[in-house]
Amino acid sequence: MADPVRRTLLRAAFGTVAMAALPTSPVFAAQKAGTGALSFVHLHTGEKLSVTYRRDGAYDQGALKALNHMLRDWRTDDVIQMDVALLDLLVDLRHKLGTKKPFEIVSAYRSPLTNATLAAASNGVAKKSYHMKGMAIDIRVPGYKAESVYPIARSLKAGGVGAYKAHNFVHVDTGPVRTW
Ligand SMILES: [Zn+2]
Repeated sequence: MADPVRRTLLRAAFGTVAMAALPTSPVFAAQKAGTGALSFVHLHTGEKLSVTYRRDGAYDQGALKALNHMLRDWRTDDVIQMDVALLDLLVDLRHKLGTKKPFEIVSAYRSPLTNATLAAASNGVAKKSYHMKGMAIDIRVPGYKAESVYPIARSLKAGGVGAYKAHNFVHVDTGPVRTW
């Protein structure tokens, strides 16, 4: 394995495989056709946003920017590029629920500082949370209890889903499929 020629060949072969696999890699598979529209109300800031961020499979950068701002860490105002697959997941959830009401945001992006503070105060907060990667959101859906949203979110098999019945919200993320 120390032979430099062999290493170069291996790298070249890997490069070819990676190129060939590109269209079906998760990043590309997450990009969807059609229209994606979302509405939110933020429970902490009171902000509201209704936006179409995907049209005919093309993502609108201005709309994504507005969503990134809406889903920022409300405690610190830190903004991150939210995972578009999470937005697409929420659109699917909205369709499956059959609601046009805005999702109520409990928590979306969490800066490392916010997450560490929350994790220290509660053992229900993961130290390496997907919230810190812009890949998770905690939401309430008006007119639905957390336990009714939970099985529908699970049925999407799009990532992690957790129900927090005491506070009536559901966590969804675009990490590996798992439930709690
Ligand atoms: Zn969460």
